Amino acid sequence: RAKSGGRGTFRFFEPEMDEQLQARRVLEVDLRKALVNGEFELFYQPQVDIRKKVITGYEALLRWRHPERGIVSPGEFIPIAEDIGLISPLGEWVIQEACQEAAKWPASMKVAVNLSPVQFRNKNLVQCVKNALTASNLCPSRLEVEITESVLLQDNDATLATLHQLRKLGVRIAMDDFGTGYSSLSYLRSFPFDKIKIDQSFVQGLSSRADCLAIVQSIAGLGANLGMSTVAEGVETEDQLIQLRAAGCTEVQGYYFGRPKPARELVHTLDMFEPTRAVG
Ligand code: C2E
Ligand code: MG
Ligand code: MG
Ligand code: MG
Repeated sequence: RAKSGGRGTFRFFEPEMDEQLQARRVLEVDLRKALVNGEFELFYQPQVDIRKKVITGYEALLRWRHPERGIVSPGEFIPIAEDIGLISPLGEWVIQEACQEAAKWPASMKVAVNLSPVQFRNKNLVQCVKNALTASNLCPSRLEVEITESVLLQDNDATLATLHQLRKLGVRIAMDDFGTGYSSLSYLRSFPFDKIKIDQSFVQGLSSRADCLAIVQSIAGLGANLGMSTVAEGVETEDQLIQLRAAGCTEVQGYYFGRPKPARELVHTLDMFEPTRAVG
């Protein structure tokens, strides 16, 4: 599929299209080799209990250390991995790696792994999670999977069956980027999620837009009423933190508490007590 420029625009007769396609082909070739070459790494970003001010766990965020280009962000390579059929083996590696790592952390801390909608079309997803839990000896309740609303747009019965099977293993299920989909509220009704992650766009608008505050308050209230925890994503300032606490969010995640870091750099205490913290 040619997705020049992405975002649904397909333009003909543009001289740079050849170049873009060329660059994409090169990236595809590199990506196919990256898994066997060990070029992937997980970074971990803390999630923090807003009242107790302790780390409840970390979200695993995939990074690709490209030999020439340096670190490539998942926003760039995940869509390609999905297109070329690489996301299932890559996603399997992510689950295994995250479970192995989390097994070394204090038992109170969970690890959250992002799942692509494409992984739900693979019949082996549940078995793959089971294997990773067994191999790492991680308690299933310490593994959380994050899905976006787009997962629930496809093949609904099969997807829901998979989610229920994962839940039966004891794995927790979180709805990521909540509020950005087409019918967010109906997705909440379709499955009893453990956690709602409030999209960072609402958090970032808190200081300038009254509607964002109203939306965040409503999602936090909704979560409380449904017995789901609510995590605000993309928290960068103390001012946002104060508003999120008042709005009733149960957890926070963002640069204010720590950027995603390699596993070996985790200290399990909050960055905000380290002298190097960057505020704002
Ligand atoms: P996401 O799951 O919603 O992850 C949150 C993104 O926000 C991460 O970007 C994180 O680094 C970034 N972030 C965290 N705190 C802040 C903040 O305070 N301010 C700002 N501006 N950004 C913040 P990242 O690591 O680039 O990942 C982007 C997306 O790529 C993720 O969004 C997720 O959808 C996807 N992704 C990452 N790792 C994986 C993976 O292993 N598998 C799959 N399928 N997708 C992944
Ligand atoms: Mg996520
Ligand atoms: Mg998110
Ligand atoms: Mg996202």
